[in-house]
Amino acid sequence: MIESILLPSFIIFAAILGYVLHFLTKSGSVTAIGIGLLICYGIGMKGLIILGIFFASSSLWSVYRRKDKMVAEEKHEKGSRRDYQQVLANGGMAALISILYGFFQTDSLLIAFCVFIATSNSDTWASEIGILSKKRPYSVRTFSVVERGTSGAVSLLGTMAAVMGALVIAITSYVLFHLELSELWVIFIFGFLGNVIDTFLGAYVQAVYMCSSCGVETEKVSHCQRRTSLIRGRTFFNNDVVNFISGFAPAIAILLMH
Ligand SMILES: [Zn+2]
Repeated sequence: MIESILLPSFIIFAAILGYVLHFLTKSGSVTAIGIGLLICYGIGMKGLIILGIFFASSSLWSVYRRKDKMVAEEKHEKGSRRDYQQVLANGGMAALISILYGFFQTDSLLIAFCVFIATSNSDTWASEIGILSKKRPYSVRTFSVVERGTSGAVSLLGTMAAVMGALVIAITSYVLFHLELSELWVIFIFGFLGNVIDTFLGAYVQAVYMCSSCGVETEKVSHCQRRTSLIRGRTFFNNDVVNFISGFAPAIAILLMH
């Protein structure tokens, strides 16, 4: 009974805190409340804890050595403050799976939920930590060295961060939901695979623009107060769409396999 009042209050508090601390925009925090409530009613507190670990760790990594990331962030479509589209790309699927779990209570839905969060965590850790790599990353498309922060580029540090990001969620899920050891591995491997898909989509189809004023390559649709022009990829595949597909694919694979 107490849970039914306490948890929603906690979700609202966390979303407001996220806004105050500049992790979320106003639309992002309202969307986060919706997603938190759906997860709360579908899977319950344990689902919320897993989402909370993803959100808290990603937010902390995003402020870690923020100054060193400034130059690379010029490339990204949006700043580090998450708006509703980013929150939906990361949490919409999690909320949907949660609600389905609330109705059907099958193991595969629970594993799909954990895999989805593991992918999101793996992706976020990889980009927030990988961007700090001392060595410049390699593009998986051209196999050449590219600028830090380029989508579709890999570094040893980023890959290790991706492994750790997936593993943390896999271990937490294993403990919280009393899973089998084999399920821990499934969550870990599929979570990491989601990050691999994200990297390849980033390299091959994600939209890359060029600023005609300063010549910088960016994911932003405008730069130096002018519209940028598409030089690679497809307009449809912005960062949110790529994130959504790479999170969606491993979770769906789990549901189809069971
Ligand atoms: Zn420019």
